[in-house]
Amino acid sequence: MSELETNSQDELRDLYRDLILDHAKNPRHFGKLQDATHYADGINPLCGDKLRLYLRIDSSDSITAASFEGSGCAISVASASLLTETIAGSNVSSATAYFRTVTNRLTRSQSQPVDSSDIDIGKIRALDGVREFPARVKCATLAWHALSAAMQQHSTPASTE
Ligand code: ZN
Repeated sequence: MSELETNSQDELRDLYRDLILDHAKNPRHFGKLQDATHYADGINPLCGDKLRLYLRIDSSDSITAASFEGSGCAISVASASLLTETIAGSNVSSATAYFRTVTNRLTRSQSQPVDSSDIDIGKIRALDGVREFPARVKCATLAWHALSAAMQQHSTPASTE
């Protein structure tokens, strides 16, 4: 086993392990989305995480379906899985609020309050543990950057760099 894998497992022990590992092992909404209206690629070169996020957005800006495919570390896969569960059935403005909330929660300093009063952060709170491991924050935010790019129909891949 490589040193990197060993370190990852040590870190995972201190995360919200059960929920993260459950989503990493059994990702929800995994696979290409038929009839997707939007998609974007996310790449995290530091870890080797690659994913493509698919959205189906109707004419009233409702996100009627979301899925992802790709490969990456447990945190990146779990985060993408939690993302699809969180935003499916939501709308573009709520998904944007989720994007801002997740990236803010993961990158803020511990002392700053976060205003997430307008959305239900629910299970995505599980990602908060990643804050303790700055090197893994980009793994956790990758799918969310892809979400933001997909909603804006950016033609270039979203990158954490
Ligand atoms: Zn990763």
